Amino acid sequence: MSVASVFPQLERLLPRISKPIQYVGGELGAVVKDWDSATVRWALSYPDAYEVGLPNQGVQILYEVLNEQPDVLAERTYAVWPDLEALMRAEGVPQFTVEAHRPVTAFDVFGISFATELGYTNMLTMLDLAGIPLDSRERDDRHPVVVAGGHAAFNPEPIADFIDAAVLGDGEEAVLEITAIVRQWKADGSPGGRDELLLRLARTESVYVPRFYDVDYLPDGRIQRVVPNRADVPFRVHKRTTMDLDAWPYPKRPLVPLAETVHERYAVEIFRGCTRGCRFCQAGMITRPVRERSITTVGQMVKEGLEFSGFHEVGLLSLSSADHSEIGDMCSGLAQQYEGTNVSLSLPSTRVDAFNVTLAQELARNGRRTGLTFAPEGGSERIRKVINKMVTEEDLIRTVVTAYSNGWRQVKLYFMCGLPTETDDDVLQIAKLAHDVIRAGREATGSRDIRCTVSIGGFVPKPHTPFQWARMEPPEVIDHRLRALKTAINADRNLGKAIGYRYHDGQPSLIEGLLSRGDRRVGAVIRRVWESGGRFDGWSEHFSYQRWVDAAAAVLPERGVDLDWYTTRERDQHEVLPWDHLDSGLDKDWLWQDWQDSLTGFEQDDCRWTPCFDCGVCPSQDTEIQIGPTGKKLLPLTPVGAGLRMPEAVHRHG
Ligand code: SF4
Repeated sequence: MSVASVFPQLERLLPRISKPIQYVGGELGAVVKDWDSATVRWALSYPDAYEVGLPNQGVQILYEVLNEQPDVLAERTYAVWPDLEALMRAEGVPQFTVEAHRPVTAFDVFGISFATELGYTNMLTMLDLAGIPLDSRERDDRHPVVVAGGHAAFNPEPIADFIDAAVLGDGEEAVLEITAIVRQWKADGSPGGRDELLLRLARTESVYVPRFYDVDYLPDGRIQRVVPNRADVPFRVHKRTTMDLDAWPYPKRPLVPLAETVHERYAVEIFRGCTRGCRFCQAGMITRPVRERSITTVGQMVKEGLEFSGFHEVGLLSLSSADHSEIGDMCSGLAQQYEGTNVSLSLPSTRVDAFNVTLAQELARNGRRTGLTFAPEGGSERIRKVINKMVTEEDLIRTVVTAYSNGWRQVKLYFMCGLPTETDDDVLQIAKLAHDVIRAGREATGSRDIRCTVSIGGFVPKPHTPFQWARMEPPEVIDHRLRALKTAINADRNLGKAIGYRYHDGQPSLIEGLLSRGDRRVGAVIRRVWESGGRFDGWSEHFSYQRWVDAAAAVLPERGVDLDWYTTRERDQHEVLPWDHLDSGLDKDWLWQDWQDSLTGFEQDDCRWTPCFDCGVCPSQDTEIQIGPTGKKLLPLTPVGAGLRMPEAVHRHG
């Protein structure tokens, strides 16, 4: 049965809201399919505003993978700003997709990808506007199956009441498998309704359906056990790993935004996974093992992605791009291919290594220098050993001075505050490092025209990392350290004026900590925050710490716990963690040992270049590291589209 567009109702509201263009759809790369010809229909979302949600790589990949299936239709929906939300409520306009403005509730599956837990309240807004009951148990066959994915899905317990299912790990194959199950269930005449469909999904052992698991608690508030409440679902749910990235060269037809967005570029993921072993880094831990995309596929994707989209910028993305085994050839080959065009190439530079500067210089052949960011993460050598970030002060100064000497006038240094075992002194050492960097840079270049920006993020302990047992510092301690650091940077006025200082206060990190390591009892906090107006918690201008504190105080004590219990409390080795039944492949004993090693400053090497240290992923997931040399090359130079070439270049090469 056809589903009517809500655009006529929406259109009347557009003149009364800010940035209406973000709601109209019609982007290059968007796909509008015939509703009636599709057998399985997905609404996909990154739960934030269009400007953040549209560039999300995960959603773009799944959107394309699904729409390539002849009988599958996928459309996108984003969180609407409060001005439109109020009007939609007043006028009865439901949550809609941007392609054909179809109501989200008409779809079979509503897939939501979470990069951060601070998107949870936006999910509730979208469900509510869609007319989908917030509590998954109140849904019936008229409602889509709500599936969470993304990194936050590795502990979906705080949103267990609101979702029907969660998928851990890579989505490319998972969405097709879910689609096949939905297709078959519908073809069978939807036997057993929604429950039967969820059961079929759960039996795959890679889709987690929270309602099929019960959580028992001990009198002190800790979890006693999480067990299936029916015989035919697995005790543990496993993550998905896509092994051959060359077989999945997406996005091929990237979405080109109509309204302004945070990134406007063609992004190609050059590898997935990271084994550097930074102990705070959830992304690195849960995406193991390392799987590289070949240089040939990367070159082909860049060529086709640019030709399709007309973007002038390419980002070679991954968790640590300079670690691709063929990154040198990749960068010089692409730089040569696009020299003289208006295409700029960039690498997110985070590793403190002079090699990064060489690569950045190679990519800057077009005369466009993108910013250089290095992430030593910890201010003192001691704390860098705790977090397994093997960078010495000499490495950092040498790297930054190399950048200044090669023409960069500005570098950004990224650190964290609140790390396990951290003292005031560890943070104050950041000031000394920054002073030394400026001093050495002025000496090497003979110029005073150099700057660095010190940017500080708050540490949040994450599930499936060695720091999953760690306590957080209260926001007052973080804020005190950040103020002291500012004073220390400016204590030397001469050096201090060449140093920019950016930081977030400790409060949002504490709430992120509550949501990251929370269990099902935290769902009541999320719901209460949302009911009292919580929206867009990832945006500092919308985030209200007090709202979260009040909601936690209102609902947690009756459940025997409180905000501190979830955040500033260290866990012991034998505590059952809310995500223990969700298998990222990492062996819990190995994680515990790595946590203990961190406390003694023991550094763990990278298994790409040293023997396997048995983190557990490869054997448990039946996967292996895939790195070069592959013997593959960039394909021979092919003419770049005339539209991309600068006029003088056309003349020179023409
Ligand atoms: S199992 Fe071994 S080889 Fe595989 S990611 Fe873990 S440490 Fe590396």
